[in-house]
Amino acid sequence: MFSSLSDSLDKTFRNLRGVGKISEKNITDALREIRVALLEADVEYLVAKEFIAHVKEKAVGAEVLKSIKPGEQIVKIFHDELAELLGGDQVPLQLDGSGRILLCGLNGAGKTTTAGKLAMRLKREGKKPLLIACDLYRPAAIDQLATVGKQVDVPVYTPDASETDVVKVAREALTWAETQNGDVLIFDTAGRQEIDERLVEELKRLHAFLDPQETLLVADAATGQGAVSVAKHFDEAVGITGIILTKLDGDARGGAALSMRSVTGKPIKYAGEGEKLDQLFEFHPDRMADRILGMGDVVGMVEQVAGRIDEKDAMKSMERMASGKFDFYDFLDQMKMISKLGDMKGLMGLIPGFNKIKKQIPDAAFDPKRMKRTEAIVLSMTPDERRRPEIIKPSRRKRIAAGSGVTIIEVNRLLKQFGDMRKMMKSPKKMQKMMGQMGGMP
Ligand code: GDP
Repeated sequence: MFSSLSDSLDKTFRNLRGVGKISEKNITDALREIRVALLEADVEYLVAKEFIAHVKEKAVGAEVLKSIKPGEQIVKIFHDELAELLGGDQVPLQLDGSGRILLCGLNGAGKTTTAGKLAMRLKREGKKPLLIACDLYRPAAIDQLATVGKQVDVPVYTPDASETDVVKVAREALTWAETQNGDVLIFDTAGRQEIDERLVEELKRLHAFLDPQETLLVADAATGQGAVSVAKHFDEAVGITGIILTKLDGDARGGAALSMRSVTGKPIKYAGEGEKLDQLFEFHPDRMADRILGMGDVVGMVEQVAGRIDEKDAMKSMERMASGKFDFYDFLDQMKMISKLGDMKGLMGLIPGFNKIKKQIPDAAFDPKRMKRTEAIVLSMTPDERRRPEIIKPSRRKRIAAGSGVTIIEVNRLLKQFGDMRKMMKSPKKMQKMMGQMGGMP
């Protein structure tokens, strides 16, 4: 998401920074390029036009042009306006009353998945969420919510498949909820391929009955301006309180995220960035602006990593490395930790400056298949070999290759990599250099 917009912005701003003295014409030209980039990213025409006008008004101010680093100043103005366009401050969920959340949206937008993700987040925050299936059109949808609920260990209310009255289901679910000791109720509703009268009428009835604290539209970012018009329709029908934008991990152009707030006036509260149930994140406009401008989102990265690996395991592994006692058992543990991180390339995109070098890193470097092969090699070693890899002479290498179904070349490569890692760990200077290089990425 956003990568082509980010590239265009990067190019334009690099040109602007390269100019010794900036004139009003330089700014106008740069903003024209940016406007085209925004439209190409599927940002709504009027939103793009107004946005550019705002930036221009601030950027041609006398102080900016006379300042020592006008290019930098303009980037800052652009960044702040972008964060404003995305909604300004993060808007948290309001759950201090009835705690009822109604999720709505079209089929396939990611409602059911998001219901599970939201339940998981709220649980981590110390709440006791309950999931309630109100999609009476597709029995599969009820089963899907039940499965998701099991995965996140949250109770699910599943109505009888013959039930047709959604308000009756909601009423019975409320009675059930009282026995469950929950404090947040997440209602998953029926969707359609597109908005139709029957869907809207049913949603209106359910909304009127539940009087939810939050009515959140789940919208697929990949549908671009379509997502924005869906949001407008649902808002007119029931009055949404916020938006959850899904599939921000995909390669859509990002226009939905940029136009959504401005067109609907409703905040984007969360962003879905993957199919896994822990891949739902609070939407922070300023951090998103950082990301779009290639400035990274380190806070976001730490949050994503924190939920997925055990801090104790990570510490243990670091200690083993520092003590020089690193063997193939530790190596295997580390690999498992890395694989839990999931989408490594996406994660690394949150590192400042990484977007610029991302293309140079081969996809194979993050290929789960390759990781599996490496794991197979280690698993084909005997316990003694794992502890003392120096005993792995050619005949053992042949056996390991045959046992793991790879070539001897791959076994040799792994042993060489492992040897290099060990050497590096034994040399504090080299470790320091490596850490320094990591900290000083462009
Ligand atoms: P619903 O019809 O609105 O309930 O949609 P589902 O929850 O069944 O989701 C439809 C598809 O989108 C499923 O394959 C989900 O795994 C996928 N999905 C949902 N959210 C995301 C997301 O944030 N990123 C990605 N890549 N896929 C998602």
